[in-house]
Amino acid sequence: MMLNSATKGLDNDQTSNKYICINCGFQVKELYKQYSSNVLKLTVCENCYCEADKYIEFDLVLVIIDLVLLQRESYRHIINNTEFKGLWKLAFLILAMEAYANWSLTPTPTAEITNEFYIGDFKFYRILAGVTVKHACFSISTFLLTYFLTKFYKRKQYSPIILLKTVTLSSFGVFLLLPSVIWDNGVHEFHFTFVLFYTTLSQLFAYEAICNFSKLWSILVIVISTFCKLYSGVLYENVERNILELFPLPF
Ligand SMILES: [Zn+2]
Repeated sequence: MMLNSATKGLDNDQTSNKYICINCGFQVKELYKQYSSNVLKLTVCENCYCEADKYIEFDLVLVIIDLVLLQRESYRHIINNTEFKGLWKLAFLILAMEAYANWSLTPTPTAEITNEFYIGDFKFYRILAGVTVKHACFSISTFLLTYFLTKFYKRKQYSPIILLKTVTLSSFGVFLLLPSVIWDNGVHEFHFTFVLFYTTLSQLFAYEAICNFSKLWSILVIVISTFCKLYSGVLYENVERNILELFPLPF
């Protein structure tokens, strides 16, 4: 049996329950038992009696396909049972992709250069800052709501990094904006609505899979967080407009 690239190098520590069964969310001590250099056996979950994490021997491409198909097990595998080293890179790419898609929709003066500043570039960085504020508000709102829910139900707290991983990984739907940005401008509005719906659905499934709250609570957390995200975007634009009125740009 071979491990996939994301699982290689994992500390298969048997002294703590740091992994989970991807089928039921039950904590397990280890994901596999190694009998010799090339003989491994997958751990069977004590709760559901299924293999705790079948993905550790799957190719990464197959895991990503299941992620696109919104399979809850794939979220649990990546977030709980791998080191997820590319978290910050993925977070930056998501922010840059969303900012670029929004920037490409806003009318920009044609390659205008004034006082050595390219106005279009400056607008992109302003949009990127707005997108970062929106995603930060979504993450903070999700963390606070989860914190209060776990307090209310007297359950273990989730670390901010686990929730950040959940929010970031489940926002990968933003990359679906790429075809619309590259090709046809006529379907922008429909495509943007579809991507927003798909991403929200992905965030809901991922949140439900990782936090194991009921469907109703999970929907409430994601809907409230999405509302905070959209509202913070409007607020940011108003603040930015007021600042620019007070301190007009020199170009
Ligand atoms: Zn299980």
